[in-house]
Amino acid sequence: MAYVAGWVQPPKYKKGLDPLGVQQPCIAVYATLLPGITNVTDRIAYYGFGPWFAWSFAQRHKQAKVSEFIEMLRRAEVLLTLIGARHALTTSDGFPDQHDGALVGVNTLRNVVAQAGARRSIRLSEYATLENVEMRYFKNRRGGLGQYYLGVLRDEYQLLGEHKNRMIDFTVERGKPMAEAVATGVNSDKFFRCLEADRVSIEDLDSLSEFCPCQLRTKKRHAERELLLDAVLGRRPELSVNPEARRRSIELIVDFLQAADGCESEYAPEEEFLVACYARVLPNGKRWSLTGPKSSTADLWGFYLRGELLSLAMQRLFREALLAIEKHSAQLPTIEAAGQWCASTQPFVEVAGAKPKTYDEFFTEVRSGLPSPHDIADEHHEIKLWEQVVDGSHQPQSAINAAIRLILTLVARTDANSHTIERSLGNNRIRLEHYPINIDSVVMRSRTRWSSMTKIDWIADTLSWILGTHRQVALRKLSQSGDDTRRLRMGDAGLYVDGDVIEVARTVPRLKQALRFLHDLGLTRTAKAGCLPLPTPEAITILRQSHAS
Ligand SMILES: [Zn+2]
Repeated sequence: MAYVAGWVQPPKYKKGLDPLGVQQPCIAVYATLLPGITNVTDRIAYYGFGPWFAWSFAQRHKQAKVSEFIEMLRRAEVLLTLIGARHALTTSDGFPDQHDGALVGVNTLRNVVAQAGARRSIRLSEYATLENVEMRYFKNRRGGLGQYYLGVLRDEYQLLGEHKNRMIDFTVERGKPMAEAVATGVNSDKFFRCLEADRVSIEDLDSLSEFCPCQLRTKKRHAERELLLDAVLGRRPELSVNPEARRRSIELIVDFLQAADGCESEYAPEEEFLVACYARVLPNGKRWSLTGPKSSTADLWGFYLRGELLSLAMQRLFREALLAIEKHSAQLPTIEAAGQWCASTQPFVEVAGAKPKTYDEFFTEVRSGLPSPHDIADEHHEIKLWEQVVDGSHQPQSAINAAIRLILTLVARTDANSHTIERSLGNNRIRLEHYPINIDSVVMRSRTRWSSMTKIDWIADTLSWILGTHRQVALRKLSQSGDDTRRLRMGDAGLYVDGDVIEVARTVPRLKQALRFLHDLGLTRTAKAGCLPLPTPEAITILRQSHAS
């Protein structure tokens, strides 16, 4: 038998994401609703720019090495962002974000443009550098294209591919037509001359302003825009792998904006959209009536939000349980003991000990007082409870109370017609055994386990479930990635809390990006400040046509 002797190092602590694994089912649901857009693909202009750059580079540098490609790609991303930042500075439309918002490296490069005097030329490689210096625009070697956009451009739209040496390349079937469409609207030669000279002046940036993402809406870049509409809106279904689901969601967003008619909104448009899907009420208080496929798509977005609300409630309880254990320096031998101890200690005991005394009585109370789904202003409505669960200014006790009531309200709202994760995901199954706390399992547990419990036992059971799930999720991460994300550890004197305080975190369901795509493509226009954007007549025509076809 062979022995291997080595030093055993303790694993390194990492803050980590999703310590309870409650977000993964939500992510799986929204991913099926908006395939081909991700929460890091903020600007649709890169969907054209990526293939265009790869194609233009290949024409000009036939036998280039990967390192040369990377150098030029990085300079190209720097130049594009400089152009956007300059356009933001010189255009007085009051919306600088439409020009340079979310461009790769914009936080560094915006200052470069702002501080550049009229005659000074900017050296692109100074920012494109791979060296770890403050001026570097982006860390990832293959730039924002490699880190953010390549995944969808390769997998969903098949515009790009990769060689074994990791060089990014355009595809002949899809990438080349896209690149050619981009090239009809921009001065490719001038752009590449700047890259090769490694210098641009402010004048150059101004003369290249047609590259700014805001210009997608202009006639000049018509061909590129049309092809993007074909691919992303699914006008030509053969141009992507999952056009249907994406088209339905985008259609629903446009329907929502049309119905809301540019009304005032308290929250961001993507939040208002989610609430409207969930409650079928518009931000102006009017009902949003939907039928057919639109209603089904809204049901799915509403189901995503149900899962998200559960995730937030569970995270809040986890956070408060850890804070309580830490504060009291409790010596707890097991997770089960920790759940029991928490439920009988401040701040949980205030909620657990209040009337009614059993789970069944409490559930009956919640169900009989359940507000109408449309009545989002009611203090017992999920949307109101959500606000309290995430509000950091609330006392722990009222946040715990809101979280517990929210969980019960979500269960009470479930009926035979409600979605389940399995039904919502279709073939895109996820391994739910890795994510034990999810909307389906909570409904199941409420029926099988909780119904005979006293309220205090029920809260103890829920807390033990949360703490035990965290241990399971963290240990799996530890075995898979070597990252130690545990917040609860076993020491000589029992369990103790370690690491960062739990943040009650939202998932990012790609809606912000989808709304921005619509705007960049000229399908929405900004209304007054504090109001929702409005769809353009063209958006409505396009969607009507795509619906009819
Ligand atoms: Zn612009």
